[in-house]
Amino acid sequence: MSVSADSAVHSVAVIGGGQLARMMQPPAIGLGVRLRLLAEGPDVSAAQVIPDHLVGDHRDLDDLRRIAEGCSVVTFDHEHVPPEHLRALADEGHVPRPSPDALLYAQDKALMRARLSELGVPVPAHRVVDDPDALDQFADTVGGYPVVVKTTRGGYDGKGVWVVEDAAAAAEAFAVGQPIMAEELVFFARELSAQVARRPSGELVSYPVVESRQADGICKEVVAPAPELDAALDHDARTIARTIAEALDVTGMLAVELFETMDGRVLVNELAMRPHNTGHWTIDGAATSQFENHLRAVLDLPLGPTEPREPWSVMVNVLGGAVEDLEGQLPIVLDAVPEARVHLYGKAVKAGRKVGHVTVVGDDLARTIVRARRAADLLEKGTTR
Ligand code: ADP
Repeated sequence: MSVSADSAVHSVAVIGGGQLARMMQPPAIGLGVRLRLLAEGPDVSAAQVIPDHLVGDHRDLDDLRRIAEGCSVVTFDHEHVPPEHLRALADEGHVPRPSPDALLYAQDKALMRARLSELGVPVPAHRVVDDPDALDQFADTVGGYPVVVKTTRGGYDGKGVWVVEDAAAAAEAFAVGQPIMAEELVFFARELSAQVARRPSGELVSYPVVESRQADGICKEVVAPAPELDAALDHDARTIARTIAEALDVTGMLAVELFETMDGRVLVNELAMRPHNTGHWTIDGAATSQFENHLRAVLDLPLGPTEPREPWSVMVNVLGGAVEDLEGQLPIVLDAVPEARVHLYGKAVKAGRKVGHVTVVGDDLARTIVRARRAADLLEKGTTR
């Protein structure tokens, strides 16, 4: 294993310079952890706050080697690093966390569905389909169209997910040139997320299950904990997250995105093995943030408590909208909603892009939602809805 130049200081290589890497920096400061970043460009979100960054390509093994050299562990802002490169790094003595074998299940939706089914974890009915005829046959098994088609790799924020009314409508999906997964269209009551942090030594802590509200395939709001969640479902969701983390030997943060069905079950939709948008509330609303617990977990340090600091936390994403100058809008937002915790990602504003989030905590759910939305709207649209 490679050792840090200064062995008293933990050093973590982070692959990918988005907002997730950026938000690892505040707890890294507190813990005295040195972050080293592989950034897509000199001024990407995380490169602005992590001085030790190299500009490179996460698909290039030499760039990955350069960043891993001298770091205690390697971790990720996204799951797009080719698995064969991660195996090569591991073979050379570097320590990717999560491991390539675990991360595979966050990289490939077909492998993930197959593995979870083996584990007895409930997932939507699904099948990998090679052509429109196979899609028609699958649709027959789930009561006909509409069905969902997804690319198995590389999707994010709803890109690579289509709801189709017939096989012809899936042409775009088949044109991507990857295996395509067909799924039953789940008529869910809402979407939930269950997060855990797990260390290589096995210690695991779980966060409260949250409700995630999406618009156009993008997470827009998170309410923590999920309001009026049935105790049995809460237990199921946490047990599922723990089962997956242990069976797949996940290290670091794991987010399990779930559908709560109309008939009171939970089905797993997606896995993420890194901090996740549905856990941003933990920065301001939990005893230990997901970013701190991710660092602690990948470094095999004791994990922090996860309980909420206030009865409710509401996180609202700020998407690129009418306001171009987010910093210029700050005085207005902070004046209108002083209690809002504003997190800007230093990203250029583009329509629909996640450029920041706000969190408001409190003991009155309705008021907390109103205040958080107000702050986010002022940042996004310049007005309140
Ligand atoms: P991504 O990897 O782009 O985040 P997901 O698989 O998480 O893709 O899907 C994005 C969103 O699409 C989900 O949050 C959900 O709202 C919707 N969706 C995905 N799969 C299904 C399904 N089988 N039934 C109903 N809605 C779905």
